[in-house]
Amino acid sequence: MTQKLDIKAIRNDFPILSRTIYDHPLIYLDNAATTQKPRCVVEAIEHVYYHQNANIHRGVHYLSQRATEAHEAARSTVRDFIHAASSNEIVFTRGTTEAINLLATSYGETFCKENDEIVISAMEHHANIVPWQMLRDRKGIKLRIIPLNALGELDMTAFEQLLSERTRLVSIAHISNVLGTINPVKEIIEKAHARNIPVLIDGAQAVSHLTVDVQELDADFYVFSGHKMYGPNGIGVLYGKEKWLDVLPPYHGGGEMIAKVTFEKTIFAELPFKFEAGTPDYVGSVALATAINYLNTYGMENIMAYENDLLHDATEKMMKIDGMRIYGNAPHKSSIISFLVSDIHPFDMGTLLDRLGIAVRTGHHCAMPLMSVLGIDGSVRASFAFYNTREEIDTLVAGIERIIKMF
Ligand code: PMP
Repeated sequence: MTQKLDIKAIRNDFPILSRTIYDHPLIYLDNAATTQKPRCVVEAIEHVYYHQNANIHRGVHYLSQRATEAHEAARSTVRDFIHAASSNEIVFTRGTTEAINLLATSYGETFCKENDEIVISAMEHHANIVPWQMLRDRKGIKLRIIPLNALGELDMTAFEQLLSERTRLVSIAHISNVLGTINPVKEIIEKAHARNIPVLIDGAQAVSHLTVDVQELDADFYVFSGHKMYGPNGIGVLYGKEKWLDVLPPYHGGGEMIAKVTFEKTIFAELPFKFEAGTPDYVGSVALATAINYLNTYGMENIMAYENDLLHDATEKMMKIDGMRIYGNAPHKSSIISFLVSDIHPFDMGTLLDRLGIAVRTGHHCAMPLMSVLGIDGSVRASFAFYNTREEIDTLVAGIERIIKMF
């Protein structure tokens, strides 16, 4: 049963939402790029620096031990949040991008040889394209691209046809950062596993909008960023099944990731430390766990239901605007609306909305190949979080209509 959220109280948790921009109340609709931070997350960072700061692991002194405990407790919080089987499967990275690069190197160099194939889709973010192209150029592998249908969904028939005995990995966004499409990742994983192909899910746009259960999905790898889920910047997560992480070589070498070092050779540390060279972001991990606990107090089911209402309200109202074209009309969609109106350039729309205090993103959204599939140079993107309101959507719609009159 979903419950009604007290949005007014939630908004009060985010100090930035009460500021003005050009004398207008800020309407922040750029949540797919990064979310704002609740007070508790910022206070968690302050608390660590003021009361607990010490480098973690192997410190005998009090502060180092407390900081280590807090960092490892944060790992358990992340494990529970995505329903992983073990904390050994939670590797802290700098974000989604670093997690995918880690796999493109570690998995790619180990399991891919010339003419092997990796399957991605036409809706991927550059973070899930470029690392594979770099691997392609090193190893001579091939990238296979799942096409989209007119609604902005993956063509699942084409997907199945792309799988072959040469496929070494399928790497797919859970939710498109442009189209908002929620991809059928469970079905994708089932189909790939039927051919013994592992699957990496880019969850950057998903973790803040829906419940993720990596065991239920049976994902081999699942990656996401803290800053897109109300957490701090500079920390993210690579989830990997233990059976994979065990056999993959480290990505970075250095301190923290070793058990024993001599000039002749190094024995690597156990999981997950093998993949965490250098001083980890033990401040960011605690703040990320704080963000997760904050989300848990409201419940992902309730957040999803509320954002769904916002999405439908916004879509309905925006579709009534003359000349409106929305890119991404999948029935199973998250709270992202990419649009263009008549021949108004997205930069003009974005700049004029900004003058009204409305923050939207314009351009290619780090998905240039998708833009070329859609036959556009860029779009305007409004992306909602659970602190946004119907009133803000009305102001957005009125703003767009006002801008149309100017042209
Ligand atoms: N994948 C998707 C689907 C994204 O939306 C983003 C961020 N826009 C990324 C990957 C990259 O995330 P980050 O920049 O935090 O590494």
